[in-house]
Amino acid sequence: MNQASGLESLQELLDLVVEGAADVVGFQVAAISLLRSNGDMEIVAVGGHPDATAQLIGRRTPRESLEAEFAVAEHWGSLRFIPAADLPTTAQTGWIAPEWDEQVIGDPDAWDPEDTLLAPFYDPTGEMLGMISVDLPLSAKRPTQVQQGVLEVFANQAGIAINSFRQRQTLAEQVRLAATAQSVARISQGVLEPSKVVEAIVDPIRTGLNCMGLWVRAFSNEDGAPKDHTAAYSAQGSPRTPPRMVELAKRIGERSWADQASAVVRNGMVHPAGVLSDEEAAEILRFLSTTGAGSLLLAPIGAGTECLGHMVLTRAEDAPPWSDAERFAALEIGRDVGRSIVNARLFELERRMTSELRRADRAKTTLFSTVHHELKNPLASIVGHVELLKENPTDDATWSLKVMARNTHRLQSLVDDLLTLSKVSDPDRPLVRERVDISELVRDAADMFLPRATQEDVAIEVVAPANPPTAWGSGNELARLIENLMSNAVKYTTDGGVVTVTLRPVGDKVELVVSDQGLGISRTDLQSLFTEFFRGTNPDALEVPGTGLGLSIVQRIVARHNGTISVDSELGKGTSFTVLLPRADTPDHS
Ligand code: ADP
Repeated sequence: MNQASGLESLQELLDLVVEGAADVVGFQVAAISLLRSNGDMEIVAVGGHPDATAQLIGRRTPRESLEAEFAVAEHWGSLRFIPAADLPTTAQTGWIAPEWDEQVIGDPDAWDPEDTLLAPFYDPTGEMLGMISVDLPLSAKRPTQVQQGVLEVFANQAGIAINSFRQRQTLAEQVRLAATAQSVARISQGVLEPSKVVEAIVDPIRTGLNCMGLWVRAFSNEDGAPKDHTAAYSAQGSPRTPPRMVELAKRIGERSWADQASAVVRNGMVHPAGVLSDEEAAEILRFLSTTGAGSLLLAPIGAGTECLGHMVLTRAEDAPPWSDAERFAALEIGRDVGRSIVNARLFELERRMTSELRRADRAKTTLFSTVHHELKNPLASIVGHVELLKENPTDDATWSLKVMARNTHRLQSLVDDLLTLSKVSDPDRPLVRERVDISELVRDAADMFLPRATQEDVAIEVVAPANPPTAWGSGNELARLIENLMSNAVKYTTDGGVVTVTLRPVGDKVELVVSDQGLGISRTDLQSLFTEFFRGTNPDALEVPGTGLGLSIVQRIVARHNGTISVDSELGKGTSFTVLLPRADTPDHS
């Protein structure tokens, strides 16, 4: 039986009970009222005189009036009788039949049309559910004991009908919520990306919890950058939420996760109390009304002690209020979704690590084979010339010795660079920071390269302010960085060119620019410039001996110092490398 037919059948039953009560007990009117969640009594079924229904149905008695009436009522067994004379002034007048002229004057048992007789009925725990009220006895007299007994039986019947209906409803709700929680858990567990988890659960929650709007938000902190994953549905369209509402929802969510309870906000009520100020609750309700909603249920999403996000569900003002069972189910769903998000995150992390390991493994293999290749050629050349000299010991050895010396030098540079590269690539090797005078390192390097520069007719210019900035870092590594950049600048610059090294403070950084007027680097070569063993494709550059490791070393040193490096180059015109390093002589460090 679905809910609609259940409601219809309850209404039919209550209609039968009031008809019976009016008819059998002998009153012109009988009405059943039910207690609403705000304490009001609302008339839901009217029997007896046909005109009475239109007048009375839907009429509400506020809680205060009801309490005032019960306070003065005479107890007739389980019935409550309020004689017209005692009726509080706040009480609403009952149904006045225009033609009721049965009134008996002078008889103490005569019924006054203002008299009120109520038969309350209760749930099994003793909570009042509602009552039957009767008016205008056919006898025109107050009901006899027998009539009172029969009225009590009808009230009990109404109570039983409503209880069993509510039990059925509760059961149906429990089944619906359990099925929803199960389907959300099943769907979310199968999704392995946090953003997709959020999207996947919108539909089952929306249908399972009967909401008109739903916003699911999961926070994440990927590599230190806070990020939100949001998915939403709104029956009204345009489900965007202003940042202020997101902020409030986030706060309620975090508090709710700490309390392990979901929150409800609706007109005149915030649960748990104190989670929002009155103004904040009013702000939320104002926003809700722009979306056509009158209440919201907020359930946190979390795992362990961490609140990972929240779900906001909304309902129209006239929709049924959020039940306790729904609040618990939403919390349970928030826990399941939290677990799924954690799983998805772990999976993502594992996937990232595996691909990084694979990449590192591939890089290692490439490095081994390149090193092998780079060592093999000069060694083969040396071995060849040794053999030559052995076979022809009387020949002039000058040429062979020259070639052997050149290759030995090449091997030496290679081994040297490899050692440096491995040192600056080792994440476990700590960087010993000190205040480094970069201008001194630049001058030392300029002195070092002067003979070669002079030989090649290349000028070296150093431009530094009178008070040059200092950097934080390892003196040795920064010296190596400067040497490699200046060595390239001199190496790849032709006769008459100038190599300029400029040093200046830029905010909390030291800027070092090494520029030359040399060969320049093609766009394609620029892409691979910092890759180990990469040597430019320009034949003129390949003429110059090199290992292809200089710039990889530079890049790693820059990274270890939390610096940046950029390159600007034009073929045939020259190249400029710009390095930014943390400055030591700023107020923070000095
Ligand atoms: P190496 O200079 O030992 O070949 P690097 O890693 O220092 O290795 O440089 C890689 C490549 O980049 C060089 O082979 C060269 O083609 C190019 N390159 C580097 N610096 C310059 C520069 N200042 N001008 C032109 N080309 C350069």
